[in-house]
Amino acid sequence: MSKNYDAIIIGTGQAGPTLAKRLSGAGMSVAVIERHLFGGTCVNTGCIPTKAMVASAYAAHIARRGRDYGVIIDGDIRVDMKSVKARKDAISEGSRTGVEKMLRGLERCDVYTGHARFRAAHEVAVGDQILTADRIFINVGGRASVPSMPGLDQVSFLTNSSMMELDTAPPHLVIVGGSYVGLEFGQMFRRFGSEVTIVEMAPRLVQREDPEISSAIQDLLTSEGINLRVNARCISLSGRAGAIVAHVDCQDGSPAVEGTHLLLAVGRTPNTGDLGLEAAGVSRDERGYILVNDRLETNVSGIWALGDCNGKGAFTHTSYNDFEIVAGNLLDGESRSVSDRIQAYALYTDPPLGRAGMTETEAQRSGRTVLVGKRPMTRVGRAIEKGETTGLMKIVVDAKSREILGAAVLGTGGDEAIHCVLDTMYAKAPYSVLQRAMHIHPTVSELIPTILQELAPPAS
Ligand SMILES: Cc1cc2nc3c(=O)[nH]c(=O)nc-3n(C[C@H](O)[C@H](O)[C@H](O)COP(=O)(O)OP(=O)(O)OC[C@H]3O[C@@H](n4cnc5c(N)ncnc54)[C@H](O)[C@@H]3O)c2cc1C
Repeated sequence: MSKNYDAIIIGTGQAGPTLAKRLSGAGMSVAVIERHLFGGTCVNTGCIPTKAMVASAYAAHIARRGRDYGVIIDGDIRVDMKSVKARKDAISEGSRTGVEKMLRGLERCDVYTGHARFRAAHEVAVGDQILTADRIFINVGGRASVPSMPGLDQVSFLTNSSMMELDTAPPHLVIVGGSYVGLEFGQMFRRFGSEVTIVEMAPRLVQREDPEISSAIQDLLTSEGINLRVNARCISLSGRAGAIVAHVDCQDGSPAVEGTHLLLAVGRTPNTGDLGLEAAGVSRDERGYILVNDRLETNVSGIWALGDCNGKGAFTHTSYNDFEIVAGNLLDGESRSVSDRIQAYALYTDPPLGRAGMTETEAQRSGRTVLVGKRPMTRVGRAIEKGETTGLMKIVVDAKSREILGAAVLGTGGDEAIHCVLDTMYAKAPYSVLQRAMHIHPTVSELIPTILQELAPPAS
C-alpha cells in the first residue's frame, strides 16, 4: 500500500508530537511513525522516570535526616523498590498514553507503529506500507552507547533503559561513566540502599563543568558513601551474573572494581544507523549525527532533523526548541535558528546543578576579560532554613560588554533559580538589569542580584 501525505514525522520524541499537532492544525495531512514507546526517551527511560526516582530517593534521604529537623521516626527507614518502580511507572505511563492519545485524536493525522526506513528522499517504508511526502521530519533520538570492550559480551550490563526495570536495589552497583546519567543513578541508588562505585576515566566528575563545581559534586557524593574512582579508564570486564569485575587502567587504587551489577553510562548514540539515510541521500557526521543547518534542514531539500539525532542538543528542552524553530519558520513566517539559543541544562543530583551559558573556564578561554561573582550555599538564607547548604552559586560576566556569559547554581532549587540568569542572558541585557531587580525573600534567587554586586576578577 502506498499513501501520500503533506508531512511525515519519524519518531515521537520531544519534537515530533507537537510538530504533528501544529501541522495538522494548519490543515496538512500528517503521518507519524513510532517503532517503540510513544514519547521516546524522556517519557519512558530518561527525564521523567529518573526524576520520579530521584524524588523517591530524596524522600528516603530526608526521612533519614528527620532528626536534623526535629522529626523523630521510630524504627528503620526502608525503601520499597517495588513501590518506587510502581510510582515511576505510573508517572511515565500517564505521559506516554497522553502523547499517544493526543496523536491519535488529531485530525488528518495517521499514526503508524513500526520501524521507519527511507527508500528514497521522500519515500519511507513502515512494514509493507509505503508513505510519501514532500516534507519529512526526523525525530528518532538516541540510545545508550555501548562501547566495544573486551569481556562486555560475557557479562550482563544495564543501561538507562534496563535500569527502569529494576524493582530491587542492587547490592553493589558499579557505574562506568561519571557524568550526568551516571551521577543521577549513582546517588539515587545509594539512597535506595545500594553500595555504589562510580568509575570515571577523566581526572574529575562532570568534567565539562568548572573544577570547583566538579569538586563540590564529588564531595557531595562521597559524603553519602559513594565510592569514586576517577582517573580510572575501564578497559575490560569479566565475571558472571552477580559478581562483575570492571578492570581499570589507573595510577591509584585497585585495578579491579568489583560489584554485583554494572551500569554503562558512557554517552549516547543517535538512532540513525538503520534509517536508510543513504537511500535518501541525507548526510551524517562520523558519529552518526544528521548534519543540519541553523534552521535544522538537512542537505536534502524537504527533510529536517530535530532532537538528539542532529547533535545540536541532548536534552528535552533542546528537542522541543527544535520543534519551535521548525514550526516558527514553516508555519508562522518567522526566521528562527538554533544559534539563537543559549546552552542551558540541569544535573538532577540532590542538590541539583542548574547551568546557563559558558563555564568560567570557557569564558576565560574565549579571550574575554571576565568578572566572577560567587557565594557558597552556606551563605544563602533559604538553604540554611531548609537544612540544605551543600553547593555554591557563581556568575561569570563580560567586564567590557557587561553581559552575563554564564552561571552555575549548584544547590537547593538550583534548577529553578538559574532561569532568572538565563532570561537576562537571552534578553541580552547588561547584568545591572538583574542586579537591580527586586527578588522575593526568602529564595535562592534573591541572592543572585547580591552576587552581581560582588563581582571581582577571577583568582588566577
Ligand atoms: C537517563 C536519562 C535522563 C535524562 N534526563 C534528562 C533531563 O532531566 N532533562 C532533559 O532535558 N533531558 C534529559 N535526558 C535527555 C532527553 O531524554 C532527550 O534529550 C529527549 O528525550 C529528546 O529526545 P528526542 O526528541 O531527540 O527523541 P527521543 O525521545 O529519543 O525519541 C525518539 C523516538 O523515535 C523512535 N524511533 C527511533 N528510530 C525510529 C524509526 N526508525 N522508526 C520509527 N520510530 C523511531 C524511538 O522509538 C523514540 O520513541 C535524559 C536522558 C537520559 C538517557
